[in-house]
Amino acid sequence: MSNEKFDAIVVGAGPSGNAAALTMAKAGLKVLQIERGEYPGSKNVQGAILYADALEKLIPDFRDDAPLERHIIEQRMWVLDDNSFVGSHYRSDDYNKPPYNRYTIIRAQFDKWFSSKVREAGALVICETTVEELLMDGDRCVGVRCDRIGGEVHADVVVLADGVNSLLARKAGFHGEIQARNVALAVKEILFMPEEVIQQRFNVKEEEGVVIEMVGTVTEGMVGTGFLYTNRDSLTIGVGCLLSDFKANEKRTTPYALLDKLKKHPSIAPMLEGGEMKEYAAHLIPEGGLRAVPQLYGNGWLIVGDSAGFVNAVHREGSNLAMTSGRLAGETVAAAKAAGKTMNAATLAAYKAALDASFVMKDLKKYKHLPEVLERSPHFFDTYPALVNRAAKTYFTVDGVDKSTKQREILGSFKAARRVTGLFGDAFKLWRAMR
Ligand SMILES: Cc1cc2nc3c(=O)[nH]c(=O)nc-3n(C[C@H](O)[C@H](O)[C@H](O)COP(=O)(O)OP(=O)(O)OC[C@H]3O[C@@H](n4cnc5c(N)ncnc54)[C@H](O)[C@@H]3O)c2cc1C
Repeated sequence: MSNEKFDAIVVGAGPSGNAAALTMAKAGLKVLQIERGEYPGSKNVQGAILYADALEKLIPDFRDDAPLERHIIEQRMWVLDDNSFVGSHYRSDDYNKPPYNRYTIIRAQFDKWFSSKVREAGALVICETTVEELLMDGDRCVGVRCDRIGGEVHADVVVLADGVNSLLARKAGFHGEIQARNVALAVKEILFMPEEVIQQRFNVKEEEGVVIEMVGTVTEGMVGTGFLYTNRDSLTIGVGCLLSDFKANEKRTTPYALLDKLKKHPSIAPMLEGGEMKEYAAHLIPEGGLRAVPQLYGNGWLIVGDSAGFVNAVHREGSNLAMTSGRLAGETVAAAKAAGKTMNAATLAAYKAALDASFVMKDLKKYKHLPEVLERSPHFFDTYPALVNRAAKTYFTVDGVDKSTKQREILGSFKAARRVTGLFGDAFKLWRAMR
């Protein structure tokens, strides 16, 4: 490593690190970005839905050459029991008109492309290099130490974009240990099949895609969800549950066993038939919401993306919060540099103010009670999905029983499972946590 001093060092080349590095490099700052993977994206895991808005603000013409799979025209929400599902689908031709709102992507390709834009903007990007610790001068971060000979590099400010584990911030004491209740462990597979087969199975045309989000008995009462996304010539299927629930699960169910169960579900298996599995990955997702957001800035440092806990688990958004926080951090640093200010906590507080004014903190605040409500309500993940599916079966089965009797039977099954007070209590808790 050189003895050169940089305006900024960015640790990590995921969406948040790339957004920060790009913003600062475009503003003319001397930026060093360090990524431990063989190339940006080689270690990264995502479903993956890309939300255009956040990227558009960084690279307005990204659609010209970004590796995008399919634009999403249909959103399905399924509540599963072991044999069936009750679903709602939203499909709109408005989503079929450019500029498209959401796309599926393959992160290994997408991050590599994103990084090429960072390099074009003038940042120095080095891969296969791990930042081992932050260099501190008292309470001021002055650079990083890497796993290379002579690997100390200095900068006015360090942007921590090192993902959910955020070892560096914890080592430096910027935030505490990760709590199992604040992270989900997710596993996913990519199954390859011909494009035409996907189009036929999901009732879409070339380049059109479908998202299926799932909740139900597949997670065995653990707080978690499943997902199925259509890529160009592959499907991504995955499931994730809170790490604390996996630990407490008496059956010792593994994440892979859940994924296997999901793949064998009679409503899902036909969509996957013949798919060739080429990629399997497991990763943590920060799902603690607002309660898990650490101190976000200090003297000479800022935290962005997953390492700051910026994930909206309700809406399955993470990469857009990562890019937005990275951009806002980059803009804060660039403005401070232009004004000739020292990169201390007082200056960098502007980053938190910008976050507070954005959808990132507004959405985290909106759902601040939800993680607690869900972790105390396993019945949302097993009892209710089973009841809803049984109700649908009762209602739609034509068997000579009159409809009023069927309605009484359905109501009776809900009351028997949760009592009237429980039903009202659950509805109130959910309304309060989601309003
Ligand atoms: C299974 C799954 C599905 C998901 N689906 C979606 C989805 O559909 N849509 C969505 O928007 N979000 C989704 N997310 C969330 C999304 O992936 C994250 O929010 C997003 O990747 C966060 O970006 P980031 O840049 O902060 O972190 P990361 O993408 O994790 O990037 C961190 C980078 O830092 C590097 N790094 C770490 N430590 C060091 C070090 N010490 N030195 C150098 N480099 C280091 C890593 O190699 C990595 O490249 C999903 C997540 C998972 C796990």
